[in-house]
Amino acid sequence: MILLGAPGAGKGTQAAQICKKYGIPHISTGDMFRENMGNNTELGKLAKTYIDAGKLVPDEVTLAMVKDRLERDDCKNGFLLDGFPRTIAQADGLKALTSLDCVLNIDVNTDLLLNRITGRRICPKCAGTYHISTLTSDLCPACNEKLVQRADDNEATVKSRIDVYNAQTKPLIEYYGKSVKSVDGNQPADKVFESIVKVLEAI
Ligand code: AMP
Repeated sequence: MILLGAPGAGKGTQAAQICKKYGIPHISTGDMFRENMGNNTELGKLAKTYIDAGKLVPDEVTLAMVKDRLERDDCKNGFLLDGFPRTIAQADGLKALTSLDCVLNIDVNTDLLLNRITGRRICPKCAGTYHISTLTSDLCPACNEKLVQRADDNEATVKSRIDVYNAQTKPLIEYYGKSVKSVDGNQPADKVFESIVKVLEAI
């Protein structure tokens, strides 16, 4: 399955829960790029120049990375792609690699997105994601590590990421047409997850 939605729509949070419930790998292209950046690989160095500017990493690079990942054994019984495809060219590339059982779109009002992303804090140790409005300190509630803000979660970069989403990723909703199942992502995370499970159980 693939998960569509603007930056801040809650794709990462929902993807983690879906993958836990259904026992499928969570393939997040953003996480893969960040891992490469952390390890200072050639791919990571290249990706960083685009990510820091709030732009998309080029399609050929992203597609090659995803193709490689989908060929691994753990994808044989299904997988969830989070943050991929993000362009029509990536969707065409994906079509040549695999068929899809579900195209899920998390729909969130634009004014909520900016608040959600700029208030997002992540745990560098356990990868937990939180929002400042629910935190009582700057320590991870799960493992006590100091929480950090993603470098690309500042207001200027986020605005660019939302523009890029509107121009390049949103057209995918039309591209996938009737196969798209949309859920209301303006609700609290547990309610969004309930809506997603309903959609998935009906397939
Ligand atoms: P995310 O964690 O999904 O918000 O992705 C963070 C950043 O990684 C994005 O703003 C892009 O710069 C880059 N990125 C992630 N997925 C893709 C993709 N499918 N195509 C191009 N760039 C991507």
